[in-house]
Amino acid sequence: MYAQPPTPPRNPLGGLLRALLPEGRCRLCGLPSRAPLCSACQCERPARWRCPRCALALHGPVAACGACALRLPCFAGTLAWSDYAAPWDRLVAQCKFGDDAALARWLGRLLGQCLRAERPGWGPARCVLPVPLGPARLRQRGYNQAWELARGLAAELGWPCDCRLLQRRREGPAQSALAGQRRAANVRGAFAAAPLPRGARVLLVDDVMTSGNTAEHAARALLRAGAGDVRVAVLLRTPAPGPGGPGC
Ligand SMILES: [Zn+2]
Ligand SMILES: [Zn+2]
Repeated sequence: MYAQPPTPPRNPLGGLLRALLPEGRCRLCGLPSRAPLCSACQCERPARWRCPRCALALHGPVAACGACALRLPCFAGTLAWSDYAAPWDRLVAQCKFGDDAALARWLGRLLGQCLRAERPGWGPARCVLPVPLGPARLRQRGYNQAWELARGLAAELGWPCDCRLLQRRREGPAQSALAGQRRAANVRGAFAAAPLPRGARVLLVDDVMTSGNTAEHAARALLRAGAGDVRVAVLLRTPAPGPGGPGC
């Protein structure tokens, strides 16, 4: 059972972009494919050691990355399907700006399959929640790509999904337009959650995790609302910057 958001007006530019994308072909390699990604591209994501807490790509198996060892996030773990780097970053661009909610839902199913295979102990969640967009950005984009991902993931796993439990009460600039500490300030106190069953396990879904600030502040709101365990699933995780960093 899904809690559906009201349908916002469509983004006319997105329709134009989608019309330019090839039909019946893999969105990454361009070869003929009935699915949005051909089976080869579905399997070709990089094998990485990742921080179990924030999914940052690492050089080896450690209990936590440097940032998490210094300050543990309040979410209990993160699953990332691949890196926010070429060629996978094109998928997020198509979901966000190509008016392709169906692609986002399909990628959500892929993320659900990944979760089932790689985090068998994570389920079932009491609720799957998307990181919400504010009303202005929702109107501008036409849909929330994180909600479409969350719907696909929830359908794949048979878990309940609700986009109304977590709301964005303050909307600043897009996180991708900010650097460093301004990212944290931009989302501090930005989220409010409806009361949740005490101790509930919830799964927060987003398209990309970069600094982890959005997930941190959304998870804080969910814990304040009664959740006992917040985990995060993102399609793509930004690798650490700098020479020699995994994925760089
Ligand atoms: Zn392909
Ligand atoms: Zn970490």
